Amino acid sequence: MKYIIVGGVAGGATAAARIRRIDEQAEIVLIEKGHYISYANCGLPYYIGNTITERSRLFVQTPASFGKRFAVDVRVDSQVTHIDVATKQLTIRKLEGQEYTETYDKLLLSPGSSPVRPPLKGIDSEGIFTLRNVEDTDRIKNYTLTHTIRKVVIVGAGFIGLEMAENLHNLGAEVSIVEMGNQVMAPIDFSMAAHVHQHLLQKGVKLFLTKTVERFEAQSKGSQMVYFSSGEKIEADLVLLSIGVRPETALAAAAGLKLGEAHGIWVNEYLQTSAPDVYAVGDAIEFPHPLTGKPWLNYLANPANRQGRIVADNMVKGNKVKYEGAIGTSIAKVFDLTVASTGLAAKRLQQLGIAYQSSTTHSASHAGYYPGSLPLTVKLIFDPATGKLYGAQVIGCDGADKRIDQLALLIKKGGTIYDLIQLEHAYAPPYSSAKDPIAIAGYVAGNIMNGSMPVISWRELHAILKTSSPAEHLLLDVRTPEEFAFSAISGAVNIPLDELRDRLSEVPLDKPIYVYCAVGLRGYLALKILTGHGYKDVRNLSGGYKTYSTALAPVICTVGSCPLPVSSEITQSSAESMPAAASPLVNCVKIDASGLQCPGPILKVKTAIESIGKGDQVEIVSTDTAFSRDVAAWCKSTGNLLLSNTSAEGRYTVLLEKGNLKEIPSVPSVAVTAKGKSFILFSDDLDKALATFVLANGAAATGEKVTIFFTFWGLNAIKKENKPSVQKDFFGKMFSMMLPSSSKKLALSKLNMGGIGAIMMRYLMKKKGVESLESLRASALAQGVEFIACQMSMDVMGVKREELLDEVTVGGVATYMERAENSNVNLFI
Ligand code: FAD
Repeated sequence: MKYIIVGGVAGGATAAARIRRIDEQAEIVLIEKGHYISYANCGLPYYIGNTITERSRLFVQTPASFGKRFAVDVRVDSQVTHIDVATKQLTIRKLEGQEYTETYDKLLLSPGSSPVRPPLKGIDSEGIFTLRNVEDTDRIKNYTLTHTIRKVVIVGAGFIGLEMAENLHNLGAEVSIVEMGNQVMAPIDFSMAAHVHQHLLQKGVKLFLTKTVERFEAQSKGSQMVYFSSGEKIEADLVLLSIGVRPETALAAAAGLKLGEAHGIWVNEYLQTSAPDVYAVGDAIEFPHPLTGKPWLNYLANPANRQGRIVADNMVKGNKVKYEGAIGTSIAKVFDLTVASTGLAAKRLQQLGIAYQSSTTHSASHAGYYPGSLPLTVKLIFDPATGKLYGAQVIGCDGADKRIDQLALLIKKGGTIYDLIQLEHAYAPPYSSAKDPIAIAGYVAGNIMNGSMPVISWRELHAILKTSSPAEHLLLDVRTPEEFAFSAISGAVNIPLDELRDRLSEVPLDKPIYVYCAVGLRGYLALKILTGHGYKDVRNLSGGYKTYSTALAPVICTVGSCPLPVSSEITQSSAESMPAAASPLVNCVKIDASGLQCPGPILKVKTAIESIGKGDQVEIVSTDTAFSRDVAAWCKSTGNLLLSNTSAEGRYTVLLEKGNLKEIPSVPSVAVTAKGKSFILFSDDLDKALATFVLANGAAATGEKVTIFFTFWGLNAIKKENKPSVQKDFFGKMFSMMLPSSSKKLALSKLNMGGIGAIMMRYLMKKKGVESLESLRASALAQGVEFIACQMSMDVMGVKREELLDEVTVGGVATYMERAENSNVNLFI
């Protein structure tokens, strides 16, 4: 029997070796268009980033060693260009161009997939790459060795894009990721991807979400200018396109083989194509998803390998072994994070119109009292009627891999959330907790299912807070006062859990109560207290403040700078914003707060700071991402100095100095380095507001940090059009009546003529293609311009936070002065 296999990597090489193991007499020909077979595609990014230092380690076998061991006729640099299924004949073209034919008894196609390269202007320029095989890898590696790579742009934030972001960052490049969607890693849900967003920002990677690359322009110095459709541009010494792959179906389609709904090669359960002696496996095929029954494409190595083994059995022994399909279990390392998912995400179920419930829990990777435990977030998605598991996602720095594998096994076997509780876990403190994180996830899901803990998702709560008045409900924060003071959801009332029973009179019986704590546990206990006292409409925030604040944390990167917490990470891009850490460490208190969740680390820092003298230092190691992210803000508000904030393997080491920033001599004079621009918009004249937003947009386009401070009448330029109703005192109500209700009602400073002038101005602007005030304002925000509303003006004029645009932060004179000091242009309008 003569078997020909097209494609010599994951599926093809596996099948060839298996055929040999079950039929020693078979004639096997393996045809591969590239120069290599059986190599580690999944390891390619790590070779580029020098994690794998020896190129030879990428090759599991060479064509010669594989050919010898398995008695396979391996033909590399040979492309199959045509299949005639009627005569069972292939046409093969050698690298040098010669063509010949070969007949087969059974044929296997494992041609994989190819990267998408949209026809964008300039895409074929030097320095723009895709990564699929060894040849691509060599090209990229060689380019990094022969060129100075300071800036990299990665287009597409799938797992290959993110792996490459980490590896190119490790080579010392400043990495920007441009992604058309609103999140990285499309297969996971937004709230989970939000953890990855924050982690990337903390690592100094710039993240441009909802941005589309429109074209590239080669620069004289050898770099590329990457243009977004929004008009922004970034320069890059190297561009990696990672915007997805397509199944390689051209050969199969030309041979008349059936393609399926998802545009992959159609196969039956024996992995047989529409031609009886032709089989297909791997990235090129589509197969029904075991949970939805709908055909889908699954670009993963494990299914390709499993299919290779199954198909070999069917080709040799006749169709006996059925392929059961894959639910899509994947894992990726993104810097210190492990991001793992299996089955169907909530957003996919929503698209399919399938009812689901989800739960999010935050646990420790192993017993908190044993050193080294790290946070682990588990999201379960399940059928609200039966508890059948549809999908799961796990994110953390340790232990995500073993949890996702157990979840994948259960989901594949049709398991429910109740099975999670029955799972036996090997337990000792260094490895897990007596209640493993996925058992905890199961208990929580069980409580949701049986109605003992009604939950509200971060998305639902956010929508309610945006659209309804605070008078209509009570948002109850049951964390400690310290946690509440550190940061809380706007409009929340703080009644710590342990005081709740004594303060029930402050909780209205006739309104919906939304309870939250840090991660959900104290919220659940509070909910039980309240329902035990007759409260009917109480819901606990799923995943607590951690999920809510992470999902809503802004991801605003501007072309020149990244205003977000990146400031707390010493990296090439942000190191300037922090004074150099003083060394050697004298009078330094060291604290290990690993495993403690907020407010644990902050309380420890507070106690330590109180116990030391001015100028002394505290070094704290924490595993709490939120602490690491917010510590800069805490230092600012408490007058302490953040010397450094570094992270490795999920541990954040923060060095603080008790004292005042201005007293530290090593701080460079801001006047020398300041490049920002700040504007005070005092007026609510339409023309002045327009001028302010035009200037802000122009300034932001230069890549500098731009701040607009809205004070007194200027607040009217940032009022929402559809404001929630808010409670106001008499004067507040009077001001509301007398002032423009939103930017749409602003008047001209001259020739307003009872509003006719303003209407004329807007009409003329539209006619002449000039952007409206509202769209200029939106593009300023999109460019990362910071909007600060003056707290004092708001108080005097009775303007409530809820009336202002969501993106606005509220600050005082000190906040403005700090921005002004860091600016070389300050305008009062
Ligand atoms: P491939 O392994 O791609 O093999 C197809 C081969 O067919 C290619 O070598 C191609 O040259 C050859 N070929 C195509 N057409 C012809 C023709 N006409 N004639 C002759 N030869 C032909 N998956 C994971 O699960 N985890 C990971 O961490 C992971 N990381 C990855 C990282 C990178 C950089 C890449 C590129 C992929 C990664 N993958 C990962 C995906 C995984 O490698 C693929 O899903 C898997 O290799 C698919 O196997 P396959 O046999 O279908 O195709």
